[in-house]
Amino acid sequence: MTDFDFDLFVIGGGSGGVRAARFAAQRGARVALAESGRMGGTCVNVGCIPKKLYSYGAHYAEAFEEARGYGWQLPGAPRLDWDALKARRAQEISRLNGIYESLMTGAGVRRLQGHGRLLDAHTVDVTAPDGGRSRHRARHILLATGGTPVRPELPGHELIVTSDDMFDLPRFPRHLVVVGGGYIGCEMASIFHGLGAQVTLLYRGEQILRGFDDEVRDFTAAELRKAGIDLRVRTEVTRIEAAPDGTRRLTLNDGGVLQADVVLYAVGRRPNVAGLGLEAVGVRMTASGAIAVDEHFATAVPGLYALGDVRGGLELTPVALAEAMALVDHLFGPLPGQARRTMDYEHIPTAVFTHPPIGTVGLTEAQARARVGTIRVYRSDFRPLKHTLSGRDERCLVKLIVDDASDRVLGLHMVGADAGEIVQGFAVALKCGATKAQFDATLGIHPTSAEEFVTLRDVTRT
Ligand code: NDP
Repeated sequence: MTDFDFDLFVIGGGSGGVRAARFAAQRGARVALAESGRMGGTCVNVGCIPKKLYSYGAHYAEAFEEARGYGWQLPGAPRLDWDALKARRAQEISRLNGIYESLMTGAGVRRLQGHGRLLDAHTVDVTAPDGGRSRHRARHILLATGGTPVRPELPGHELIVTSDDMFDLPRFPRHLVVVGGGYIGCEMASIFHGLGAQVTLLYRGEQILRGFDDEVRDFTAAELRKAGIDLRVRTEVTRIEAAPDGTRRLTLNDGGVLQADVVLYAVGRRPNVAGLGLEAVGVRMTASGAIAVDEHFATAVPGLYALGDVRGGLELTPVALAEAMALVDHLFGPLPGQARRTMDYEHIPTAVFTHPPIGTVGLTEAQARARVGTIRVYRSDFRPLKHTLSGRDERCLVKLIVDDASDRVLGLHMVGADAGEIVQGFAVALKCGATKAQFDATLGIHPTSAEEFVTLRDVTRT
C-alpha cells in the first residue's frame, strides 16, 4: 500500500505506546506517535515513578526512628521540606520525560505533539497545542491512551483531589483523608503518613485490598493501623463541604464528621477514550467502557488496535509493556533469531507499596481452594531481625499455597520490607513450575527475611 504515511500510528505516549512505537521502528516500520502531554504517561508522570520516590522519602521517617535503637544520636526531630521534595521529584521526572523523547526519536519514530483523533480506520487527525491540525494515514493504528482516575458524584465532589494531584499539592496536608481501599488508596495513605500527615483511610467494604489473599489483607490492615493510620472499614462519605478556614468537612454514613486539609479519592481508574472518535469508526466497547480487543489486541475495526489500561485489563506497566511487544511481533514479526512473543497473563507478580509493602504472585488461598482439590498452606509470621534492635513492632508475613497432588507452588505472598524485590525473584520459580520440594531443596541466605520462603515446614491447613 503506497498511500499510507506510516505503517504504525500510535496515539498515546505512555508505557505501552512508547514501547510499541520503539519496537516497531526497530523492525524497520515507519512509525509516528502522538501525545498531547508529557512523555511517559501515568507511570512516569503521576504514577509508579513519583509514587515510589515519595515512598522512599517516607521510609526515611521510619529509618530516623529506628536509628536510635542502633545507638545513633540524632540532633533533633527531622523535618520534611515538602517544597524541596516536590522540586527534586519534578527534576527527575523531567529527566525521564527527556529520556523517553530521545529513545523514540533515536529509534526513528516521528513524534507529534498533540491530541490524536480517528477520522476513519486508517486516518488520524492531530490537533497541536497551538490549534494547528495535521492528518496522517497509517496501515495500523494503535490506541494506547491509558486511563484516568474516577471522580465521585457526591455533593461536594469538586472539593476532592485524585492521585494526579497528590504529587504537587501546594501545601503539605496536616490531615489527609483517603477514600478507597485499593492499590492507590493504601499506598498513598502509607506514603503521606510516613511523610508526616495524620491519615484517615476510609473503605466501603469489610476489608481493604479486595482481590488479594485474605490473610494478606488482614495482616496489612493490622500493620497500617499499628503504624498509626486511622483505617475505617464499612465507611462511606455522604457529603463534603468547604469550611471557612479552607479545610474540608466530610459527613460519613455512620453520622460521623471528619475535618481534613485534603480529601483524596482513589476509587479506581477508567479508560481514556473521550475525544478519540471511536463512535465514528464503530469500535466495540466492553461493559466497563474499555475498548474490546481479541487476543492480538485487535479491535472490532480492522487495522485498529488497543492495549494497556485503555483496554481495561490489568492496569500495570509491565503488562502494557509485554502487550506492546506481543503486538509488534504479531504485526511486524520478531527480530531475527528471536521467538515470536505472545501475551501470557499467568503468574503476573505485583507489589503494593504500602509500609510494609506487599509482594504477591500466583493464586490466593481462596482461589486455589476453588480451582484445585486439596491444597497445603504454609505460613510464617515473625518479627524481622532488624526490629529486634530498632524498637519497632512491625512484623512480616510469608505464605505459600501448594497443590497437594502435584506439589507445585501455586501462590506466594509476602507482607514485609522489600516484598516487591523478593517476590520478583520467586516469580521466576513459579513461572518455571517450581514445587515445594524444590523450595525445600534450596538453601536460604542467612539471615534474611526471604529465607523463610525456603524453610517453611509446618502445614497450617490442608
Ligand atoms: P483499585 O481498583 O485498586 O481500588 C479501588 C478502591 O476504591 C477499592 O477499594 C474499591 O472498593 C473502592 N471504590 C470503588 N468505587 C468506590 C466508590 N464509589 N466509593 C467508595 N469506594 C469505592 O483502584 P485504584 O484507584 O487504587 O488503582 C487503579 C489501578 O491502578 C489498580 O487496580 C492497579 O491495577 C493500578 N495500580 C498499581 C499499582 C502498583 O502496581 N503498585 C499502584 C497503583 C495503582 P471495592 O473493593 O469495594 O470495589
